[in-house]
Amino acid sequence: MRKRIVAGNWKMNKTLKEGIELAREIELQVEKQEDKSAGVIIGLPFIHLSEVSKIVNHKLISIAAQNCSSEPRGAFTGEVSAEMIKSTGIEYVIIGHSERRSYFNEDNETLNKKVKLALENSLKPIFCIGEQLEERKQEKQFEAVNKQLREGLFDLDDEEFSKIIIAYEPVWAIGTGETATPQQAQEMHKYIRKLVTETYNQEIADNTTILYGGSCKPTNAKELFSNPDVDGGLIGGASLKADDFFEIINSF
Ligand code: PEP
Repeated sequence: MRKRIVAGNWKMNKTLKEGIELAREIELQVEKQEDKSAGVIIGLPFIHLSEVSKIVNHKLISIAAQNCSSEPRGAFTGEVSAEMIKSTGIEYVIIGHSERRSYFNEDNETLNKKVKLALENSLKPIFCIGEQLEERKQEKQFEAVNKQLREGLFDLDDEEFSKIIIAYEPVWAIGTGETATPQQAQEMHKYIRKLVTETYNQEIADNTTILYGGSCKPTNAKELFSNPDVDGGLIGGASLKADDFFEIINSF
């Protein structure tokens, strides 16, 4: 059955020294935890990957990059390739975060190339999808998510798709303090799982981890995670404090 996961996304926060300290603090807390069945991932800025990868126990905490290039290598100044990320010893990469989609104009075609390069380099993608506020107001949220999945992921074969984690993050809830209600989250996660069943099969859908993201915090995580199709969270702001992040990890 699918794995439950809590993944932090530090975004563009923390110096290297602060990042090492936070990773150590989180690891200390996870180490003491009795039930270690949920996976813990921290999504770090590129500059932290290599150093943090050397100091954490990968059995307790996995590491994700927050992006990778859509090109394999070459004259792309400032870019970081999937192969380079893999060489730091980490396991995951966040692809298609709404901030990448909106501030850096990343479309589904580009994101599909990133996913394929990540998989070719044995990185597991955490693929983010989610509707804009306008789309929700017009009741077009299912259409929006359907398009992102079809164009971003659904040409993968069964084996490739089984390495994907999906993160449903309604854009209107990211960093805004506004959270989807548990009912809204469950409704969308159920819809996503149904699409995966139709595109692949029931077994693959049952094994796909679908995370919720968008102002998830210690006070609402329990209620969100208690839904049958919500398998954990992608956490932004609340992943920057070890205590808050740990409380969320303990919310299953
Ligand atoms: C995110 O960045 O993926 C996110 C969900 O942010 P926040 O938890 O701060 O809304």
